[in-house]
Amino acid sequence: MDGSVYKVQIDLPELSLVALIGRDSSEKSHLIKKNFKEEEILAFDYFKGLVDDENDGTAKDTVFEALYHAAIKRLEEAKLTVIDAEYIQQKDRKNIVALAKKYHCFPVAIIFNEPEVINEKKYEIRSLEKEGFRYVYLLNSEEEVSHAEVLRTKLYNNKKDIHGPFDIIGDIHGCYDELCELLEKLDYVVEQEAYRAYSPKGRTVVFVGDLVDRGPKNMEVLKLVMSMVKSGVAYCVLGNHDGKLQRKLKGSNVQVAHGLEKTLEQMSHESESFIEEVKLFLDGRISHYVFDDGKLVVAHAGLKEKLQGRGSRRIRDLAMFGETTGEKDHFGLPIRLNWSKAYYGKAFVVYGHTPRESVKIANNTANIDTGCVFGGKLTALRYPEKEIVDAKAKAIYYEPARPLLK
Ligand code: MN
Repeated sequence: MDGSVYKVQIDLPELSLVALIGRDSSEKSHLIKKNFKEEEILAFDYFKGLVDDENDGTAKDTVFEALYHAAIKRLEEAKLTVIDAEYIQQKDRKNIVALAKKYHCFPVAIIFNEPEVINEKKYEIRSLEKEGFRYVYLLNSEEEVSHAEVLRTKLYNNKKDIHGPFDIIGDIHGCYDELCELLEKLDYVVEQEAYRAYSPKGRTVVFVGDLVDRGPKNMEVLKLVMSMVKSGVAYCVLGNHDGKLQRKLKGSNVQVAHGLEKTLEQMSHESESFIEEVKLFLDGRISHYVFDDGKLVVAHAGLKEKLQGRGSRRIRDLAMFGETTGEKDHFGLPIRLNWSKAYYGKAFVVYGHTPRESVKIANNTANIDTGCVFGGKLTALRYPEKEIVDAKAKAIYYEPARPLLK
């Protein structure tokens, strides 16, 4: 092999809408055959059979319309989709990016450039990125095409190969004593002073987020959870309170209220290096996980089926905050949409966020935020057993703005 050929490595997120743009060649067809399944490819050449002459009037639009229609069907089912066309105009590239966004998947462009026309018609990586393509790969010669390597990368939320058994723990909000008690009840060995815990039975904890704010021992909770995640004993998704702390630590101007004032006060006694660790920890958290062959989803505020296992800014926000009606109740709090009422998904969704007097299981969902910091209890749901274990709050640490839901 010629050592001077640059080997392009193409990393494709497993849920991508890929546009293959550029001249057909035997190398290009070889790359397609080698790396994609036949059903993943939507080729312009195939759909152009729908019109008499692709260059006649709006014929091209008709071809692309049919192609998008097929793409939508695949994206709805969370299937990687490849659009293969020699030339894709700006308006169609825009449509492709919009389609990817709508279905919360990554728009990716792979450009096959012809050396002889590079100067007149070269697609610049930067300009395609500006158009919204998340990743742009440029293959400049037939050699580069034939040496390119396509790898599929799993999304961070894809933990389908992790089967548990799990102990999923609700909103902690700085209730460290209750957390340690609960872990012990769940048969974990807890070293309170060293901030370590592990399961002799090989179980795994999943925290639904909202580790901090309002409670008495936010730093202790962070220390234990961070060590458990680091040692592989636990997973933790980001709650809205954790996200707010993250933004504050990054220097954003956030409103210091709803218990964040307590977290910051407690944090002011900690070392710079610890605060740096917290920042890194929060930056490494994602909004939801899909476990056990897709049968279990954990998200702080829950997540509709069609958003599970996908990745976008909007999904992150929805998983952290849930949907609201846009109105406020007479306590001045936003009214949250009861998403679980309309949930008929296959995955069992475990979440927190809305404190209740007791665990609420409905339509294959479970809300396990039982308001420990408000004097309720800290709850764990064992999976797959669906057994509830809890630890009663030792005090009312914070007065709720409204009574807990029954
Ligand atoms: Mn909460």
